[in-house]
Amino acid sequence: MCAVLLCLACKLELETISGTSVDYRYSPGLVPCAGNATYVDQFAVFAAGLLAVDRPAHVSFAWVPAEEFGVGRLRSCEGSLGCASKNEAYSQWPIHLHEVVHALLYSVNEAPLPFLEEGVATALDMSVYLTLDVLRVNSGGKDDGDPRPELTKEAHIDYAKAGLFTLYLIQRYGPEKFMTLYRRSKRAADLSAVRGLFLNVYDIELDEIVEAYLQDNDCPADIIHFPWYECTAPRLSPQDGAWLVERPVDCSEDDARGGIDSDLGVATSVTIEVTEPGGHTIEIVGPDIGMVHLAPCGGCRWLDRQVVVFTGDTETAFLPVGEYLVTARFFEASEADVRVSITPSP
Ligand SMILES: [Zn+2]
Repeated sequence: MCAVLLCLACKLELETISGTSVDYRYSPGLVPCAGNATYVDQFAVFAAGLLAVDRPAHVSFAWVPAEEFGVGRLRSCEGSLGCASKNEAYSQWPIHLHEVVHALLYSVNEAPLPFLEEGVATALDMSVYLTLDVLRVNSGGKDDGDPRPELTKEAHIDYAKAGLFTLYLIQRYGPEKFMTLYRRSKRAADLSAVRGLFLNVYDIELDEIVEAYLQDNDCPADIIHFPWYECTAPRLSPQDGAWLVERPVDCSEDDARGGIDSDLGVATSVTIEVTEPGGHTIEIVGPDIGMVHLAPCGGCRWLDRQVVVFTGDTETAFLPVGEYLVTARFFEASEADVRVSITPSP
């Protein structure tokens, strides 16, 4: 058995770029962008800081092609885009922060409640843009976003519901309490055990916490800051009141992340600071299909709306005062300039 496993493991040959917290690995033949290894490594430090974990565990992340999933040491990953085994994360995407979170938190609890495990991974990964409001609209009003039916599931958890409720718990009651909940939780716990755990950690009944979560549609003023990782991107200064990103989104640029021919394309981020509230027009022009994603860095993450605009389109949104992340993503590495503009509406 061991010999077979060893032999299968040998097949997974990976290039490695060693980092302080994360070793970035990829299959030969795949072409990661120049910024990937640093981006993932710095994410571990950022995530540990947000979650008030003393220091991040040393983990690895590997980008591997789809055909590697489900075979050899990745046989348990079959049918998924990404997976984590102990402190090793694997994905068919060149960057998959969700899986990195699983690997990072393995040292905190090897078998936590799956709802919390998926909740915190979703809360830290930009790839889920949903808010509680959007989740309700998408269900045609049939689902109010109540996390309780998901709490004791061991599989097929609604990631958006778990992520949004996790954001609420962290921003409302703090990361320390959430991590205590995470540390003490157990896979396969029944509902009464989960209720007991919440009462023990928060000193509030689970039902009371959930009712407040479902009913409070306004962001409390005393919320705990829990920004997206992309909010650490460099600040872009406005010119004549407008912001303009005009540059190639080329995989070989140091701040580009993603991969050649990957589903995620090539992305780069900046942050902007809006000092005058009001309508803003967001436009993206590029040689390839792309999208721009604009989201607030402050506020309540489970409530805040985000703006997504595709190449050739224009979108107008009301932006309150505050800091925002702007991520431009193109689905082919482009050496030609792309142009993203954010202009106050007259
Ligand atoms: Zn997961």
